[in-house]
Amino acid sequence: MSKFWNSRTRELSPYIPGEQPQNRQYIKLNTNENPYPPSPAVIEAITRAANERLRLYPDPSCTALRDAVAERRRVKPEQVFAGNGSDEVIAFAFAAFFEGAYRAAPILFPSITYSFYPVYAHLWGIPYECPRVQEDFSINHTDYLKACGGVVFPNPNAPTGMLMRPEHVRAIAQYHAGQSRRHHAVVIVDEAYIDFAGYADAVQHAARQTSAVHYIEEYPNLLTVHTLSKSASLAGLRLGFAIGNEELIEGLCRVRDSFNSYPVDRLALAGGIAAMKDAAYYEAITRTVIATRERVSAALVEKGYAVLPSRANFLFVRHPAMSGSEFFTVLRNAGILVRHFNKERIADFLRVSIGTDAEMDAFLTVCGST
Ligand SMILES: *Cc1c(COP(=O)(O)O)cnc(C)c1O
Repeated sequence: MSKFWNSRTRELSPYIPGEQPQNRQYIKLNTNENPYPPSPAVIEAITRAANERLRLYPDPSCTALRDAVAERRRVKPEQVFAGNGSDEVIAFAFAAFFEGAYRAAPILFPSITYSFYPVYAHLWGIPYECPRVQEDFSINHTDYLKACGGVVFPNPNAPTGMLMRPEHVRAIAQYHAGQSRRHHAVVIVDEAYIDFAGYADAVQHAARQTSAVHYIEEYPNLLTVHTLSKSASLAGLRLGFAIGNEELIEGLCRVRDSFNSYPVDRLALAGGIAAMKDAAYYEAITRTVIATRERVSAALVEKGYAVLPSRANFLFVRHPAMSGSEFFTVLRNAGILVRHFNKERIADFLRVSIGTDAEMDAFLTVCGST
């Protein structure tokens, strides 16, 4: 505590990101980064953009990037918002759509989910309630069919990796759309991992089928959030999007322009556009990650581990005998970093990002010998 902090800063409870070790070379399976490099076209585009024009501000409305996203996701450019990572986009969405006033109706998000949501809620003073995920860790969508200040959840959920069926996502959006009753609220579906929701033989098709993006025309209260950090191998570039109705996008722009008009820099714009245009490359690496996920998951089940059914680029696993913190330490001593959340119901689980096949073989070797 510093006497120079104001009361808001004193009361913050910041998010704790996964470690980014700067010294020892770990097999890094702790922050869901992609083990494969970004498309060569992305590197080339960024290199080309690293020129004297960096003295100029970037396009504040990210026009060319939004066009590229719109084309890839089959929506209109006016339905796309771009930000400095999807965390920023989510923070803006909380500020734009969820009420922080005294006695406001609480927003809803699952009891086990992305731990940034309560952080943003605290930052903006938004009250929240957390419906308990079921015994099998799935989200019961009917818990979200009640009047509230808004809804936010990742699909697939983190850190469980479990997918909510698209018709259930749709039912939540519909309930809060304000069509047949007076109640209305914004529903944010954080699709950070949606590109991995398919199976290796139907990557594109399955991801498109499971994404809530194709409901945005129908439900003006539905905002989907996407990131280039996971499936596009660009965690270091900081680019995220929201896709939704034009009114929601305009709300996000109002918040952004009250904070920082240029959250997406020239290099990120160039890289993001190139990434959106190289669907073939990304489909190939996504297929590899999914195939590795299925293989490692089966191998762990074989060894007696509990493994939740993941549709993301990570597995949520429980050792047959060891506690979560013991297993974490064993892996760390073997040079493998994973993520442990010391929280109710999940303290014995570890979240393991899907790495290359060689990295996962090293992980399985440690799993088999402990
Ligand atoms: C990784 C992640 C994000 C944030 O990604 P950015 O790197 O900020 O784009 C958002 N939501 C979930 C659920 C995530 O796991």
